[in-house]
Amino acid sequence: MRLRFDDEAEAFRGELREWLDANQPTTEEMAEPKLSSAHYPEWARAWQRRQFDDGWLVPGWPPELGGRNATPVQQMVYFEELARRQLVRSANPQGLSIITPSIVDHGTPEQRERYALPTLRAELSWCLGMSEPGAGSDLASLATRAVRDGDRFVVNGQKVWTSGAHHSDYCFCFVRTDPDVPKHKGISCLVIDMRTPGITCRPLPELTEPDWADFNEVFFTDVMVPAENLVGELNQGWRLANGSLAHERGMLWITNVANIERTVEHLVALGKDTGAAADDRFRDAVAQGAIDAMAMRLLGYKGFGKFAKGEFSVEHTLLKLFSSETERRLYLVGTEALEGDGIDTDRVGPPVWREGSWVTQYLRAFSGTIAGGTSEIQRNIIAERVLGLPR
Ligand SMILES: Cc1cc2nc3c(=O)[nH]c(=O)nc-3n(C[C@H](O)[C@H](O)[C@H](O)COP(=O)(O)OP(=O)(O)OC[C@H]3O[C@@H](n4cnc5c(N)ncnc54)[C@H](O)[C@@H]3O)c2cc1C
Repeated sequence: MRLRFDDEAEAFRGELREWLDANQPTTEEMAEPKLSSAHYPEWARAWQRRQFDDGWLVPGWPPELGGRNATPVQQMVYFEELARRQLVRSANPQGLSIITPSIVDHGTPEQRERYALPTLRAELSWCLGMSEPGAGSDLASLATRAVRDGDRFVVNGQKVWTSGAHHSDYCFCFVRTDPDVPKHKGISCLVIDMRTPGITCRPLPELTEPDWADFNEVFFTDVMVPAENLVGELNQGWRLANGSLAHERGMLWITNVANIERTVEHLVALGKDTGAAADDRFRDAVAQGAIDAMAMRLLGYKGFGKFAKGEFSVEHTLLKLFSSETERRLYLVGTEALEGDGIDTDRVGPPVWREGSWVTQYLRAFSGTIAGGTSEIQRNIIAERVLGLPR
């Protein structure tokens, strides 16, 4: 069997390629450092703006939202093409892929105008205020409190692991607005201007890159937020929180699978260079990686059909688990193939995500098994919702 896209999708790909050839940022431009997941170097701002203006930023949306009403299949072609070129659409992925779709779906026309459009045009950057010291996997336990006081909310509490908070203009923040009802029924979502008095960001340096801090602890002390910054209905934030991450899930797998395919190619080369290819265990591990990559691509196509119809796609839950665990495993295969040199962080590794040695990619890959729901939580979802096992 040979799977291929139809002529219409291929014509779309041709048009996109032509546009990318003329407009994608150069390697020299992309060398300008990015300080966090909410920091826009100048080239990234200009690149996102070009995509928006020419309808290539969110192809499935109408032109006024930076798109061209692309069909679901065309959207998949689009993400495949970006993954092949290792291009990211935005320097602030949470703003573009999680928060903007939530505002477009649940916000008022004024909120769309004030927040969604400038975010699409790369004029605003965002952080996502979900996790707290006592609420990660069990997000519904969040305790940051927002109390209505006339025409504003007063917010007190703490978030943690807030990516890019120290470079963000706004926080899309989940807060407790009713402590007297079952926990997931008393949550609301507020847009909080990060310049409001009472907010303190404390960046958390990372083990893999001491000079790079993306995570933050964010403290809120009597922070005044206008009541009009409520997104969606009061106490209906749980629905929004669940929907937010689903927006990302639908397409993220394409990049993950492309990274795994690329890593397998690099492992083959590494095996030849180091002599590791003579080892049966190494060859088995690489062959398993290639098989897994193919299985994931097919699973992704299967799930895409459901996702495109707005249905729950169990395949994407499987893929989040499968791809993040596979990536981590393959980077370890590469690290071990280098034997003693494997822990040398200056040694060039597979060019996936950001630059880094095999061991750096391995250490970074743990984040994929945690962010957006840990592997254990994905297994719980699969057990309960797919296999029908008891809770
Ligand atoms: C790269 C990265 C970026 C992130 N960015 C953000 C961000 O921008 N904003 C934000 O709000 N958060 C962010 N997070 C936080 C992330 O959402 C949480 O780390 C994640 O939800 C897990 O929560 P936790 O760290 O509190 O771990 P916990 O929930 O405390 O879990 C600890 C361990 O217990 C396991 N566990 C917990 N409950 C169960 C269960 N019911 N069954 C089985 N095992 C269980 C977990 O799998 C895990 O191994 C980010 C995380 C990463 C890694």
